[in-house]
Amino acid sequence: MPEGDVIWSTARRLRAALAGQVLTRSDFRVPKFATVDLSGQLVTEVVPRGKHLLVRTSGGLTVHTHLKMDGFWRVRAVHPGVRPVESFKLRLLLANAQWEAAGYLLGVTEVIPTVEEDTVIGHLGPDLLGPDWDPARAVSLLSRDRDRPVGEALLDQRNLAGIGNVYLAEMLFLRGLDPSRPVGSIEDLPALVNLGRRLLDANKARPGHVTTGDTRRGQEHWVYGRGGKPCRRCGTRIMKGEQGPAGEERLRFWCPNCQL
Ligand SMILES: [Zn+2]
Repeated sequence: MPEGDVIWSTARRLRAALAGQVLTRSDFRVPKFATVDLSGQLVTEVVPRGKHLLVRTSGGLTVHTHLKMDGFWRVRAVHPGVRPVESFKLRLLLANAQWEAAGYLLGVTEVIPTVEEDTVIGHLGPDLLGPDWDPARAVSLLSRDRDRPVGEALLDQRNLAGIGNVYLAEMLFLRGLDPSRPVGSIEDLPALVNLGRRLLDANKARPGHVTTGDTRRGQEHWVYGRGGKPCRRCGTRIMKGEQGPAGEERLRFWCPNCQL
């Protein structure tokens, strides 16, 4: 499950390749939009919102995509004589005279009128990497359900948008909070959401999600992906378990000694 910083850097790459340029080709490999042709339209903006990506055109349309579990984008220069990308994993191709952006295994691929974007992103809480980031509002949305485990509430994109499993685990470790702690029992929620913003912001322009300050392979995280290994702070074995409503359980990693 990609984190908000991955969407942010993906949007940056797509913006550099597509924004301000006229599309010369579009190819939707999803049945519902297979006949849509955006060629001739100018791409006006590429905007990340939480984990959603919006490509807006001068025709008043928005290409809305979401990476979900396995999606990713590749951008490459267009050269005469180079064959267009072809793959059964391809969901969408957007190209101009210079660049070709290919979206693979996207969980959502659709075209909507730009004025109706709210129908797909209107439910999102404040975007941790958005220009309108509003920590007070995120805290107030998180506080709506005081009994909810913090490990669930932080992943709910209606509260705040952009946190996935990696940052969830790392934020809770750094603040010393057990993922099952009810939101209402946490004294300093502003510090928690501000930490999330800092971690995503620090990683948005580089690959990976480094929270320890150590970019070496295997050293990037405090607890995420380290089940059964010793805690970097106290040596206790890191716990790994599932949490969440039935059918939506997500993996959790935490140190039972450092996180209460
Ligand atoms: Zn520990």
